[in-house]
Amino acid sequence: MTALPVDFQEEMKKLLKDEYKLYENSFDSEIFRGISINRLKATPEQVQKILPFKITKSPFYSDGWYIPSDEQGIGNLPIHHSGAFYVQEPSATSAVELLEIQPNDKVLDLCAAPGGKSSQIASCLNGTGLIWSNEVVKNRANILLSNFERMGIANGIVSSCYPEILCAKLSGYFDKVLVDAPCSGEGMFRKNHDAITEWSREHVLSCANRQLSILNSAAQCVKQGGVLVYSTCTFSYEENEGVIKQFLAENPDFEPEDIHENFGRKTEIKGAVRITPLEKGEGHFAARLIRKSENNNFPEPYIAPIKNSKNAELYKIVQKMLDDIFVKIPSGKIVIINDKAFIIPENLPDINGLGVIRAGVFAGEFKKNRIEPQHALFMSSKPENIKRVLDLKPDDSRLVDFLKGLEIDCEGENGYTAVSLDGIITGFGKCSNGRLKNKYPKGLRIL
Ligand code: SAM
Repeated sequence: MTALPVDFQEEMKKLLKDEYKLYENSFDSEIFRGISINRLKATPEQVQKILPFKITKSPFYSDGWYIPSDEQGIGNLPIHHSGAFYVQEPSATSAVELLEIQPNDKVLDLCAAPGGKSSQIASCLNGTGLIWSNEVVKNRANILLSNFERMGIANGIVSSCYPEILCAKLSGYFDKVLVDAPCSGEGMFRKNHDAITEWSREHVLSCANRQLSILNSAAQCVKQGGVLVYSTCTFSYEENEGVIKQFLAENPDFEPEDIHENFGRKTEIKGAVRITPLEKGEGHFAARLIRKSENNNFPEPYIAPIKNSKNAELYKIVQKMLDDIFVKIPSGKIVIINDKAFIIPENLPDINGLGVIRAGVFAGEFKKNRIEPQHALFMSSKPENIKRVLDLKPDDSRLVDFLKGLEIDCEGENGYTAVSLDGIITGFGKCSNGRLKNKYPKGLRIL
């Protein structure tokens, strides 16, 4: 194993005292791995029935489960393609638990890629409220978007914007804000030995500066009584307690609040928790803060492109497509932007100038005067709302063929047809005389 830097060892000894040796010994044990269930698509029972290995409950999140640490190739399993769960380090799920999400909450995930915590938030919201997921690094924001589509999130926004710009414009808008900050990653040392060699005191201190600046931006968009959760995957005092103490000194509008969750170890900050391998997680810190003061600068509402005499025909084509596919049409507002149709959540704030790369669901794309439905439209829908569904059992060989992009046999009437894995929608195709023309996106196909 790569030797732990001496300065890091000293910090950990201060933190863990008598238990330090146990931490050091933990490098000889297996790492912890887990999944969080996506309630938009499946229940733990459904997932367990299909998975080829056993999952066991984790203490960090109501829908968090451990998976065997040596399990390989989970990303290639058809049930992973279906979006029924997100593979996530078990202690990483704790931050969302601290948000204590309620139905209809408007939630901002400010540092969101690749999307593990956004996926948890969307699952907790269960289609209500709004999840706004932002990732400043553009190519990481695209991965976030792809995960949004896999998880079937319809009530969301994906953006790539600097926190200071985004949060100034959305001042006072959110009930809950998560800052899962970029950090020195000490909590990942057991699973990523490169992180050990990259570690330095200077890096820790520069992370702490950046974290404070992101947290100060985030504070602006929390409404009165709203919750701000700060989390990292590092043990460092400076990046955790140090950042929170400095933030509270600069922002007397916020107070730390006791948490009800029963996991991890207490810290000197009320409402903050630290998880180490000794608590059966790799390593995380999370703190829950509440805004006490007023913050009533609501953003302007979003003005969607309107239906008029010039484009009325296009709106009719979208409506006809939806009528053809659905028993119950997804809720939201249809908007057409250039050659694309979206179904966006009602009552959005103004999204202009905020680097939005997706609002709501990409429903269809115009090709000359016809429209082609999109993968995201099916992924975000429940099978009971769709007219034609080809349901395949886990051992049906057509499932893997479908995910490879092949044409498969399809009983049932002609037309656009969802393909589901034991009731979980995984994609769609077009059924024509007993054969399903494959519409599984090329970039997602298995080889
Ligand atoms: N929340 C994510 C999840 O659960 O999948 C993980 C987020 S990761 C710990 C931190 C993210 O912050 C990275 O995606 C990184 O690109 C982004 N980031 C880096 N610098 C940033 C900055 N200055 N402001 C905001 N985000 C930043």
